[in-house]
Amino acid sequence: MKAVVFKQHGPLDNVEYTDIAEPEIQPHEVLLAVKAAALNRLDLWVLAGWPGLKLKLPHVLGSDGAGVVTAVGAEVEGFAVGDRVAVNPSLSCGRCHYCILGQDNLCDKFAILGEHVDGFLAEYTAVPARNLLPLPEQTDFADAAAASLVFVTAWHSLIERGHLRAGESVLVVGAGGGVNTAAIQIARLAGAAPIYVVGSNEEKLEQARALGADVLINRNETNWGKAIYEATNRQGVDIVVDNVGAATYHTSLRSLRKGGRLLTVGNTAGATFDFDNRLIFGKHLTIIGSTMGPTADYKEVMGLVFNGRLQPVIDSILPLSQGPDALRTLSENKVIGKLVLTP
Ligand code: ZN
Repeated sequence: MKAVVFKQHGPLDNVEYTDIAEPEIQPHEVLLAVKAAALNRLDLWVLAGWPGLKLKLPHVLGSDGAGVVTAVGAEVEGFAVGDRVAVNPSLSCGRCHYCILGQDNLCDKFAILGEHVDGFLAEYTAVPARNLLPLPEQTDFADAAAASLVFVTAWHSLIERGHLRAGESVLVVGAGGGVNTAAIQIARLAGAAPIYVVGSNEEKLEQARALGADVLINRNETNWGKAIYEATNRQGVDIVVDNVGAATYHTSLRSLRKGGRLLTVGNTAGATFDFDNRLIFGKHLTIIGSTMGPTADYKEVMGLVFNGRLQPVIDSILPLSQGPDALRTLSENKVIGKLVLTP
């Protein structure tokens, strides 16, 4: 079968569209004919690799996918050949302390499809049945794939971890990325107001407005920290969503009001940096981290995608054969929303 893989960690040149063997399923898994897969920044990090990451090579990239079940393992119940499904990208054991509490994104054996095991940039992939969610007829495979990772991540961060409440002000730092476009919509749905968005160009900011942002700040034209300070009558905002990191953290902390919360699910611009701790204790700030989300959150947020109340932003849909080029485009920060590939 065709797949987008790398045979050793390293630069984008290591990614190839090639033939590999079809996966064999375990008794608890189904074989999925992938109808749509979506790229994430995670794919670039997996390609680069990090200390301790040990993958079976060649590795099939891609954490987001949706498709049709084409074979079921002997232990699988509730799914049959021909079913249309979305796939929760988080893998968990179902038995550990955290899983029993429903906090399966804290599982002792937590892993992500496409990160620790083969993913969706292929014609077929093997997926545990417990990760499947029936996909209603009215929802496209592309929407399901584009929504999965970023919507569960943003939902868990804002709603479950951040306890976002109606009427609170939210600042989203960055307008174009998948998690941020999801966060803006979720904040709007939760009744947050006003929603401020800092972005790098007018096109991304206009998109943010269409998704529900109230106040747009172009960081290339204005000092965004000062703009927030003035726009909030020198009070700051209740919540900042900062998944950038080194380049923005200091200003994000300064942009919070007393008692405010900074939510983070990752870093696109440097993970290691200094910050002024006087801001943390002096303003009673809380930094709240999370990664992915539990199964209950996945079902809840995807239900809102299925009924149209949340809508993933798709930059473009390309054939799987263009996977290597699409990863390069993603790395250049030129996309608004998700890149989707179809085998
Ligand atoms: Zn577990």
